[in-house]
Amino acid sequence: MNNKSKNKGVYLDNAATTAVDPRVLKAMLPYFTKQFGNASSLHYYGRDALNAVDLAREKIASFLNAKTLEIYFTSCGSESDNWALRGRVYAPSKNKNKHIITTSIEHPAVLDTCRVLEKEGVKVDYLGVDHDGYVSLDDVKRVATPETTLISIMMANNEIGSIQPIAEIGEFSKELGVCFHTDAVQAAESEDLNVNNLNVDLLSLSAHKFHGPKGIGILYIRSGVELSRLITGGHQERNQRAGTTNTPLIIGMASALEIAVNERAEYISRLIPLRNYFIDRVLKEIPFCNLNGGLDRRLPNNINLSFDFIESESILISLDRAGIAVSSGSACSAASLEPSHVIIALGVGAEKAHSSLRVSLGRTTTIEELDYTIYVLKREIERLRGISPLFNVEKGVGSYV
Ligand code: PLP
Repeated sequence: MNNKSKNKGVYLDNAATTAVDPRVLKAMLPYFTKQFGNASSLHYYGRDALNAVDLAREKIASFLNAKTLEIYFTSCGSESDNWALRGRVYAPSKNKNKHIITTSIEHPAVLDTCRVLEKEGVKVDYLGVDHDGYVSLDDVKRVATPETTLISIMMANNEIGSIQPIAEIGEFSKELGVCFHTDAVQAAESEDLNVNNLNVDLLSLSAHKFHGPKGIGILYIRSGVELSRLITGGHQERNQRAGTTNTPLIIGMASALEIAVNERAEYISRLIPLRNYFIDRVLKEIPFCNLNGGLDRRLPNNINLSFDFIESESILISLDRAGIAVSSGSACSAASLEPSHVIIALGVGAEKAHSSLRVSLGRTTTIEELDYTIYVLKREIERLRGISPLFNVEKGVGSYV
C-alpha cells in the first residue's frame, strides 16, 4: 500500500487492524529463524527464547505499571476477554450466585461470552449508555453488590471511540471488593494503561491494534485475583494458560507497545486535529449527516458518521472502488447486515445504524488522504442519494416513510 498516494491505497480502518511497524518486524525476525527455540526447553535454544520472553514480559509490565508475573500472554484480545469472564465465573472459590455487570456496547468477545454464560445460569446486567456513548458510574452503583462476580467495562469503544470513566468505576469496584475487568484493546495507542491508576484487576490487550502482529494478546491479572484456566494442557504461563510460548509474536508485541508508549503524545497531538478537521468538513459540506458518539472523551483516531437515506455498505463499496478503506461497523460484524448494536444503543434509531460509517485514522494518515476521502465521499453520497428511493433529489429532501 502506498500511503502517500492521493487516489490509491488510503487506509482508514485502523480500528480493525494496523500494519506491523517495520521496527517491530525487525525485532521479531530473528525469533522465527535463528532463535527459534521452544521457551520451555531446557537446552540453550530454549533458554535463549525464554530470556527474550522474560525481558518482553518485564518491559510490558513496566508500561502497565504492573508486576512482571501479572502479565499473561494469550492468542488475541478475544481470548483475553473470554478468559477474564469465564475464568472469573468458574473460579473455584466464587459464590454460587454468579453476577456480571457489563455494558450494551461491548465488543462481541465480551457480549457473546456473556450471552453464553447467561444460558449457564449467570445473571448479567447490560448497562445502557447515554446519547454520546458514555456509561455512568451511578448506573454501575445501582446494580453492583459485594456478591457481584465481575464488572467488565471496555476502556474505549471500537465503533464510536467513546472512552469510559474506568478509573472512577475501578475505584468504586475496589471499595466494594468486586473484581473489575476492562477491555483496553482499542486504547493502547492513546490511553494511559497504568493498571494502578485505573484501579483495574484484569485488562485485555491485542497487539495488532497497535502496530504489532496478529495472533498475540495480553491478559493482565492482578496478583491475588483468582481465575480458572481457559486453555488447559501444558505448564506455560505459570501453569495458567497452555500452549507453546509464541516467542516471536511476544517480542513483536513488546516492541510495538514500547513504540506506542514512546510516541503516544505525538500520536495524540497529530491525530486529534486531523480527526476534528475531517468531522468539521463533512458535517459542513455534506447535508443530512451526523456524528455518532460524543467528542469530549473520544479516541483521537475515531470518526463515526451516519449519512441519512443511504446504506453504509453502498458507501463503503463506493469508497473501496476509489481505493479508500473504511468500515461499516466493527470488523467482526462487518460481514453481517445487522445494524450495529453500538449505534442502536445510542438511541438514534435503526436507520442511523444502517447508514453509519467508521473512519479510523492511523499513525501515517495525512491531511491529503483526508481531503481526497472527503472529495470522494461528497461525490458518492450525492450519487447514491440520487438513486435512493428514500431521497427526492429535486426537492433536496429525504424520508424513511
Ligand atoms: N475488544 C475490542 C474492543 C476490539 O475492538 C477487538 C477487535 O476488534 C477485540 C476485543 C478482539 O480482539 P482480537 O481481534 O485480538 O481478538
